[in-house]
Amino acid sequence: MEIAIISGKGGTGKSSISAAFATLQKEVVLADCDVDAANLFLLFNPVCEEEQVVISGQKAVIDYDKCIACGECIDYCRFDAIVEENNRVKIIETFCDGCLLCSRICPQEAIDIVDEDKSRIYAGSFKNGRMVYGRLAPGEENTGKIVSKVRDKAKQIAKESGIKDIIIDGPPGIGCSAISSITGVDAVVVVTEPTLSGLHDLKRTLEITSGFKLLTSVIINKYDINEEMSSKIEEYCAQKNIEVVGKYPFDPLVVEAMVNCQSITDFAPDAEISKLIKNSYLKFS
Ligand code: SF4
Ligand code: SF4
Repeated sequence: MEIAIISGKGGTGKSSISAAFATLQKEVVLADCDVDAANLFLLFNPVCEEEQVVISGQKAVIDYDKCIACGECIDYCRFDAIVEENNRVKIIETFCDGCLLCSRICPQEAIDIVDEDKSRIYAGSFKNGRMVYGRLAPGEENTGKIVSKVRDKAKQIAKESGIKDIIIDGPPGIGCSAISSITGVDAVVVVTEPTLSGLHDLKRTLEITSGFKLLTSVIINKYDINEEMSSKIEEYCAQKNIEVVGKYPFDPLVVEAMVNCQSITDFAPDAEISKLIKNSYLKFS
């Protein structure tokens, strides 16, 4: 079974819950698809066994041996990625879209288009099985493409190792990387918190999962920090026929577990919070 844990916003506790779900399994493939801020490898310190280069896009590079500083490329770039500095033109990498236009119009053929190849995906082992995670290089784009490569690798490993379950820690938000992390999964768990923005972002996320016709359930994390808002979230889910598979109270033990580089279910297996998480996870077994 492939389960994606996502959230409409950051800071809901999504990664802590993903880590707990993963360590409730004897053998699992954990795919950290939060490639902008992958951090589960810090928690589980996997033994890296494979590194893959990901071409996340293209960018322009000037050959100063050929450039005559005519400035034509500055006028053509629609992304304001080319500027003049100290009497020579310079490309601001983070603005460059790799559209090729400057390389086509340069009278000196002084602009090359090269692959952006600093992003990586890694595969390794951790105590509960295998783990795949991506690292998007600063300024590089195409997070959706990297997420999809992380998922492909996770599926390949699961197939080759005979592991049945894949847990995906998805990115927050509803951008293309979040969509890449949920397409075609068996179940989506949306983690939310009882705040106005939490409810707002939950609604947007549920619109997406319902558009993709995905089996979706909700976890309300730290429900006791605002019980009135938690009730509103539950009412909304009931109206939409979406099961709330967990309501967890705020528990400082979760932070303590993270500080000790463990999931909460490993750190304090008998704590109430761990039992609640386990009950949620059992609904997918
Ligand atoms: S168009 Fe070509 S030659 Fe002119 S400034 Fe740009 S890179 Fe240099
Ligand atoms: S490739 Fe496109 S975006 Fe990049 S510098 Fe050239 S014209 Fe601008």
